[in-house]
Amino acid sequence: MTGASILVYAERVGGNLGEIEKLLAGPLKDFNGIHVLPFFHPYDGDDAGFDPIDHKIVDPRLGNWADFKRISQTHELTADLIVNHASALSPEFIDWQEKGDASDYAGLFLTFDTVFPDGGTEAGITSFYRPRPGMPFTAYEVAGKRRLVWTTFMPSQVDIDINHEKGQAYLKSVLEALQSGGVKVVRLDAVGYAVKTPGTDSFMTPETLKFVEEITELIQSYGMRVLVEVHAHYTQQLDIAPLVDLIYDFQTAPLLLHSFFTGTVDRLKNWFEIRPDNCLNVLDTHDGYGVIDGGPINGRPGLITQDEMAFIFKKAEENTNGHSAIASVIPQWFSLPHQINATLPNIVADDTAYTIMRAVQFFLPGEPQVYYVGLLNGQDDVELFNKTGQGRDVNRHNYTPAEIEVALKQPVTQAIIALARLRKLPVFEGQFSYEVTGEDSMRLGWVNGSDSIELRFSTAVGAAKFEISVRDGSGTRSYDSVEALGSAQ
Ligand code: BGC
Repeated sequence: MTGASILVYAERVGGNLGEIEKLLAGPLKDFNGIHVLPFFHPYDGDDAGFDPIDHKIVDPRLGNWADFKRISQTHELTADLIVNHASALSPEFIDWQEKGDASDYAGLFLTFDTVFPDGGTEAGITSFYRPRPGMPFTAYEVAGKRRLVWTTFMPSQVDIDINHEKGQAYLKSVLEALQSGGVKVVRLDAVGYAVKTPGTDSFMTPETLKFVEEITELIQSYGMRVLVEVHAHYTQQLDIAPLVDLIYDFQTAPLLLHSFFTGTVDRLKNWFEIRPDNCLNVLDTHDGYGVIDGGPINGRPGLITQDEMAFIFKKAEENTNGHSAIASVIPQWFSLPHQINATLPNIVADDTAYTIMRAVQFFLPGEPQVYYVGLLNGQDDVELFNKTGQGRDVNRHNYTPAEIEVALKQPVTQAIIALARLRKLPVFEGQFSYEVTGEDSMRLGWVNGSDSIELRFSTAVGAAKFEISVRDGSGTRSYDSVEALGSAQ
């Protein structure tokens, strides 16, 4: 797909799908794709929809499948396949709890005994790579007996046994619902954790890659593309990229922060040299702002060091008046958080630097996607965080239609929309090149026949600057400020 997409929660961008449709037809018409984060029943569970009770229906408070079908006629629609777990309140789990082995859903959910049929050891149990604090299982009452059910994320998110025929049938039925609702890209949510292989850390193992290959084939057989979501060491992203249609580029985001906080571009260049082309180019998302994705993991050196990660967290803390340090979560086994919980405009705290980060995101090969809070130049929602206690909520503001109208007028937002407009130019179907032009400066450019576009930027601390120059059938033009870029055609 050429062009850019947006990432939204339907309920937090105007309140429902109707409002989103209006935006797509109006002020956001230059975006040609949309990923709507979990809109299933219910969208407001313990993990903001990533814990579906019914993964096959649209929460009626947001809209219905007909709304999605309509949106999909004009925009490439992405939706999640929450492959690893469902809600403990799902009818399938409740039925199994009531009837045990006699339930139609016996086998659908993963238990301790399924993973460790011969019993687990301390080493075996503690070796799992964990995205959340605590142990990966929770005791539930099942047909009068206490069973340890696998819960990789929260205790209320019960893991699916993807190797069991019941698990496979469940995933197929969800895919069929997505396909008939007009979904064209399936995001495989948290798939790195889906396969449990005793004796390993069970994260992105050869068994996981095999499963990703199998499910990719299945999804493609329904005529949909596959986007795999893995927050991992950069080498693991390189391993999985050839198996799927799209991976997230989670590495550019921390490296850009490193560049702007230190006034250097060498780390970015190192990544650009090996970065796959089939990327979804993201900076901020609904989760924290990944830093570990550029760092060392399990003894493997990163694109930046642990000290450099620490420096990014320190600068983010300064720029957010200390908020980010309060909202970000440090895992028990590491001395730093993996992700920054704050909005990206707050973390960067400089409109020009922020706009350049967006420009880099749009100029790199791949498919740029902008998260609604970043697009609307959102500031930390400390009130929401204080209310829910969930760190990620600082970056998940609920916008009313009136707030959106005001936010859209900001120069930074207009500049990002202009980048989406430029990204549709045919020049982006040509050849990409980049070059380091100084310790803190780079040039990224595209050429297609006699058309060309280039971005020159400097990450000098406190003095970031850029210029975008376009040459095509409509003439030659250039933009070197946030305000000027906002009017780019
Ligand atoms: C999603 C998170 C979610 C987790 C569990 C992730 O990768 O992006 O928001 O909490 O999966 O479903």
